[in-house]
Amino acid sequence: MFHNIHLNELPSGGKLFEGEFRNDLFDLSGEEAPHYIGPVKFSLNVSIDGPWIIVEGSVTARFELECARCGQWFPYSIDLDEYYSQEPREGESTLDLTAHIREDILLSLPGYPRCEESNVEDRTCPAAGKFAKDAEFVPFPEEETAEAPKRTDIWNVLDQLPSTGSGPTKSKS
Ligand SMILES: [Zn+2]
Repeated sequence: MFHNIHLNELPSGGKLFEGEFRNDLFDLSGEEAPHYIGPVKFSLNVSIDGPWIIVEGSVTARFELECARCGQWFPYSIDLDEYYSQEPREGESTLDLTAHIREDILLSLPGYPRCEESNVEDRTCPAAGKFAKDAEFVPFPEEETAEAPKRTDIWNVLDQLPSTGSGPTKSKS
């Protein structure tokens, strides 16, 4: 583990830290939360540039995600090939590189995973045909239920038009 990189001891060009974690750093819970498969591999150069801590290199991690459309679990690899982070040092003498890696992997997990986006397996989502009209946008259930009353309101208004006596469809009598 690389919890405490001593920033004061870094050579001027920085220092390369490489390795892998097999243990689960993520502690993701919940039925639909991504499953950590591992390992996390990293190759990161840590350097100091004036007031900044620069971390650059690559990070990869294997997960299993649940497809938001078909509900199947599929393999997914986080590949941060051009990882770059610059953050203020703020007088710190150490850097918790493990926490850094963990956080950036979590931020890279897709919020709305679809199994055909697996970069490990070539897949076709079995539920894809059910959303043929717009494959890029699938409304959340909340939006569907929010829309339903609006549609009802419109029909109510239309229904009321003839009975007001001023509707354009009313025939003369
Ligand atoms: Zn799917």
